[in-house]
Amino acid sequence: MPKCPTCGKEVYFAEKLVSNGKDYHKACHKCARCNKSIAAGSACEHADKLYCQNPCYATLFGPGGTRAGSGTAGSAKYD
Ligand SMILES: [Zn+2]
Ligand SMILES: [Zn+2]
Repeated sequence: MPKCPTCGKEVYFAEKLVSNGKDYHKACHKCARCNKSIAAGSACEHADKLYCQNPCYATLFGPGGTRAGSGTAGSAKYD
Protein backbone atom coordinates (compact mmCIF):
# COMPACT_ATOMS: atom_id res chain seq x y z
CA MET A 1 0.00 0.00 0.00
CA PRO A 2 1.53 3.34 -1.01
CA LYS A 3 1.94 6.02 1.60
CA CYS A 4 0.85 9.58 1.18
CA PRO A 5 3.89 11.92 1.12
CA THR A 6 1.92 14.62 2.89
CA CYS A 7 0.59 12.78 5.92
CA GLY A 8 2.56 9.53 5.77
CA LYS A 9 -0.53 7.33 6.00
CA GLU A 10 -1.57 4.62 3.61
CA VAL A 11 -3.55 5.68 0.56
CA TYR A 12 -6.49 3.54 -0.38
CA PHE A 13 -7.70 3.36 -3.92
CA ALA A 14 -10.90 5.29 -3.30
CA GLU A 15 -9.06 8.33 -2.04
CA LYS A 16 -5.99 8.14 -4.25
CA LEU A 17 -4.74 10.96 -6.38
CA VAL A 18 -1.57 10.39 -8.38
CA SER A 19 0.63 13.42 -8.78
CA ASN A 20 4.24 13.52 -9.97
CA GLY A 21 4.27 9.74 -9.76
CA LYS A 22 3.31 9.66 -6.10
CA ASP A 23 0.09 8.66 -4.44
CA TYR A 24 -1.66 11.27 -2.33
CA HIS A 25 -4.94 11.38 -0.53
CA LYS A 26 -7.20 13.74 -2.38
CA ALA A 27 -7.50 15.76 0.80
CA CYS A 28 -3.72 15.91 1.15
CA HIS A 29 -3.07 17.12 -2.36
CA LYS A 30 -3.00 20.73 -1.34
CA CYS A 31 -0.68 23.65 -1.25
CA ALA A 32 1.73 23.81 1.68
CA ARG A 33 1.54 27.60 1.68
CA CYS A 34 -2.09 28.54 1.14
CA ASN A 35 -3.71 25.20 1.99
CA LYS A 36 -5.94 25.21 -1.05
CA SER A 37 -6.46 21.92 -2.80
CA ILE A 38 -4.58 21.56 -6.06
CA ALA A 39 -5.99 20.04 -9.22
CA ALA A 40 -4.33 16.83 -10.37
CA GLY A 41 -1.45 17.55 -12.69
CA SER A 42 -0.99 21.18 -11.74
CA ALA A 43 0.94 20.81 -8.51
CA CYS A 44 4.48 22.07 -8.16
CA GLU A 45 6.81 20.23 -5.88
CA HIS A 46 9.61 21.66 -3.81
CA ALA A 47 11.48 19.86 -1.04
CA ASP A 48 8.79 17.17 -0.92
CA LYS A 49 6.04 19.71 -0.43
CA LEU A 50 3.32 20.64 -2.83
CA TYR A 51 2.48 24.13 -3.93
CA CYS A 52 -0.07 25.54 -6.31
CA GLN A 53 1.56 27.08 -9.35
CA ASN A 54 0.03 30.45 -8.80
CA PRO A 55 0.53 32.37 -6.76
CA CYS A 56 2.46 30.27 -4.26
CA TYR A 57 5.14 28.47 -6.23
CA ALA A 58 5.71 31.42 -8.50
CA THR A 59 5.98 33.73 -5.52
CA LEU A 60 8.26 31.52 -3.50
CA PHE A 61 10.50 29.96 -6.09
CA GLY A 62 9.73 31.40 -9.49
CA PRO A 63 11.89 33.82 -11.42
CA GLY A 64 11.20 37.35 -10.33
CA GLY A 65 9.45 36.19 -7.20
CA THR A 66 10.44 37.28 -3.77
CA ARG A 67 13.41 35.39 -2.49
CA ALA A 68 12.35 32.78 0.01
CA GLY A 69 15.29 33.96 2.06
CA SER A 70 17.33 31.85 4.38
CA GLY A 71 19.49 28.97 3.46
CA THR A 72 19.74 29.14 -0.31
CA ALA A 73 23.45 28.98 -0.89
CA GLY A 74 25.22 30.07 -4.01
CA SER A 75 22.40 31.76 -5.83
CA ALA A 76 23.36 35.36 -5.26
CA LYS A 77 25.11 37.30 -7.98
CA TYR A 78 27.54 40.07 -7.29
CA ASP A 79 28.77 41.11 -10.70
ZN1 LIG B 1 -2.44 12.01 3.13
ZN1 LIG C 1 -0.91 27.92 -2.76
